[in-house]
Amino acid sequence: MKRYSGFAVAREGLNYHLGWGRAWRNPAPRKKYDVIIVGAGGHGLATAYYLGKNYGIRNVAILEKGWLGGGNTGRNTTIIRSNYLQDPSAAIYEKARSLYETLSQDLNYNVMFSPRGLLMLAQTHHEVRGYRRTVYANNLQGVETEWIGPDRVKQLVPIINIDGPRYPVLGALYQARGGTARHDAVAWGYARACSDMGMDIIQQCEVTGIRQANGKVTGVDTTKGSIDCDKLGLVVAGHTSVLAEMGGFRLPIESLALQALVSEPIKPCMDVVVMANTVHGYMSQSDKGEMVIGGGTDGFNNYTQRGSWQHVEETIRALVETFPMISRLKMLRQWGGIVDMTGDRSPILSKTPLGNCFVNCGWGTGGFKAIPGSGWAMAELMAKGAPGPLTEEFSMYRFREGKFIDESVAAGVAH
Ligand SMILES: Cc1cc2nc3c(=O)[nH]c(=O)nc-3n(C[C@H](O)[C@H](O)[C@H](O)COP(=O)(O)OP(=O)(O)OC[C@H]3O[C@@H](n4cnc5c(N)ncnc54)[C@H](O)[C@@H]3O)c2cc1C
Repeated sequence: MKRYSGFAVAREGLNYHLGWGRAWRNPAPRKKYDVIIVGAGGHGLATAYYLGKNYGIRNVAILEKGWLGGGNTGRNTTIIRSNYLQDPSAAIYEKARSLYETLSQDLNYNVMFSPRGLLMLAQTHHEVRGYRRTVYANNLQGVETEWIGPDRVKQLVPIINIDGPRYPVLGALYQARGGTARHDAVAWGYARACSDMGMDIIQQCEVTGIRQANGKVTGVDTTKGSIDCDKLGLVVAGHTSVLAEMGGFRLPIESLALQALVSEPIKPCMDVVVMANTVHGYMSQSDKGEMVIGGGTDGFNNYTQRGSWQHVEETIRALVETFPMISRLKMLRQWGGIVDMTGDRSPILSKTPLGNCFVNCGWGTGGFKAIPGSGWAMAELMAKGAPGPLTEEFSMYRFREGKFIDESVAAGVAH
């Protein structure tokens, strides 16, 4: 595959750009693979990539029922941060954040990582205490965050109203190297690199059954026929319960729609990401100028991959006191994705009751930021057949044993 570079752009420019090849192949499935990954979202593709890169396992198929990156990976609001409270969370999210720093070079694909700085506003005294505690924890974990006062918040975000009557801004948890990346590009970059290693990404190929013998997976049934494998990875976010049921086991996962919206494009006015967890909303500005706005999940379980009117109203109403300027913006479009929520709001990267079947799910409303770290850790789990330092706490059995990694207490909004 041709490397992308400034030189390549110049060379192709002289040739009317006719020489660019396809970024990934579109192969028909083979009869058997060493590893099958179900789900070509960011986590599935990253798992495949690090299986190839770190462990030399390249006879891999990634099966996708729609188009690659068309699930939550292509629907999220792209926030990247690692300021989590609990040690296991901080470790895996910081691994991911640090991989994002050089991901474009690693994949030879511009994922537009933009560490523009991220603020989590404290708008109640309870939050002040909570975020100060997180800063202390982060400093011990090697995650660089700091507590900043309202004046510094105003300096970083001139459009903010820090003197709101209900929820004044009392300060913020600030992560200077948090930010955003281009979500599609993350999926496309991993896909291109996987395809380049000889892996097969098979789109429009829904897994409809998991074949087993003697407590192990032998292969999967798909809309493109049966495919055998030695190891199976389930990385399907909101559809995890459906796949687990095919495998004959249950997971403590609920599927919910999470929605987001963008405004009409406006001139640059905010160059950081701001999360306001008390009122339940967050906002950043895209390179196109749109204000990217998100809120909470629907209040009921569902598989409805789309937006709803009441969500626009709820989220804007929540944010308008802190950002009065959005009252005059037209909202351009909205959408939804099906997120996979666990009780403690932490992910599951785990062996399953089927010996050679592994599951990566439960990233809920906040898994985009984790993609490189999750892929790295899941590849280790699948290659070695045993959890490594990044995954050992994230077993599916922790719910049975009461060993929660309780990020639900640490953050009202987890994006
Ligand atoms: C509106 C919204 C905003 C968000 N904002 C943020 C944010 O700001 N920051 C952040 O870190 N996270 C955010 N998230 C969460 C983040 O998007 C997800 O945690 C992450 O993208 C999950 O990636 P994934 O690869 O696990 O899942 P997905 O990208 O959903 O991929 C799973 C894939 O599995 C496929 N699949 C399902 N069933 C089958 C089957 N039977 N056979 C074959 N394929 C199948 C699906 O089609 C899908 O493509 C947000 C999510 C949403 C919806």
